[in-house]
Amino acid sequence: MKLRCFSCKRTYPYDTYRWRCECGGVFELEGTPGFAKDDIETSDFSLWRYRAMLPVKYEEGLISLGEGFTPLVETQVYGTKIHCKLEFLAPTGSFKDRGTAVLVNVLRGLGVKRVVEDSSGNAGASLAAYAARGRIEAEIYVPAHASPTKLDQIAVYGAKLVKVEGPRERAAQAVQEAAARGAYYASHYYNPFTLEGLKSIAYEICEQLGWRAPDNLVLPVGHGTLLLGAYRGFKDLLAPGLTERLPRLFAVQARPCAPLYEAYQRELADAFAIEKCHTIAEGISITQPVRGRQVLAAVRETGGAVLAVSDEETLRARDELAQRGLYVEPTSAVAIAALLRLRGLIGLEEITIVPLTGSGLKSSAKGG
Ligand SMILES: [Zn+2]
Repeated sequence: MKLRCFSCKRTYPYDTYRWRCECGGVFELEGTPGFAKDDIETSDFSLWRYRAMLPVKYEEGLISLGEGFTPLVETQVYGTKIHCKLEFLAPTGSFKDRGTAVLVNVLRGLGVKRVVEDSSGNAGASLAAYAARGRIEAEIYVPAHASPTKLDQIAVYGAKLVKVEGPRERAAQAVQEAAARGAYYASHYYNPFTLEGLKSIAYEICEQLGWRAPDNLVLPVGHGTLLLGAYRGFKDLLAPGLTERLPRLFAVQARPCAPLYEAYQRELADAFAIEKCHTIAEGISITQPVRGRQVLAAVRETGGAVLAVSDEETLRARDELAQRGLYVEPTSAVAIAALLRLRGLIGLEEITIVPLTGSGLKSSAKGG
């Protein structure tokens, strides 16, 4: 296995500490094992039942909190039948645990003792928890003005919080400076091992559906890591003929902060940076997605679309879902809100999966 730059195609060894290419491009992992149904560890009911397909070399006692294998629950919202994938049941309350679990196991195999990351939300909490489990020191760079409730979860796991004054981008800059001084940058959006862990959601969905791909996947998108992980996972299943097609990928953004939507509307190949705007969907409030080009290509290849919904639509959708017994944070509800716009595009008999990415308990009832 090796890392390849998505932009200039230059390769780097698997165990490099570099977090992106010299040209600034993002890495993808190449030479992954692929999917083999016979290699499933059928007695394991976590994402590690797919361990033979994951890029983890370290075999002696996995670092795990029992992540993965989340239930599919059927419901109907805005007249559309959906299967909700309950990702908020993950150990730290969000889908991020799939990527972090795989990343942390890779890092232990590489002998990494200390990691840095910039996130004041679900990714930071996830890394803090798995670093604690794996006895790796974690420093999480956060904007000084980030919401104290989110920071509490990170701090209680024992990660060191480094508060950075100024806008969100300053925290990203500070963490990159720390990485330049030798720390491993365990970025949830740059790191390719995180994407490999997120592939497991596609494996699970197909297995839970009796080895078929769904027709549609509708999900919230900021940097687009879950979409790209799922896309790679569905590709793995298509290669040996276990499924017949890729599902259509519908990427949903929050209208106040929607660079991918803007690019999609203008038929551009990549997203351009936009001005920061406030949205209650804070988990996808990303002004410049670093893998935008990959997200747009995946959406177009599968015949999907990029949509954007207002905060009002999001809160209404959050409440609609809660009235069906499912309580998610506003970021997750953008995908539900988009179902209203997808009526007519999604057939009555189609199988549509909506990953419910984060727990409602992480947000206030008013949103945010
Ligand atoms: Zn490059």
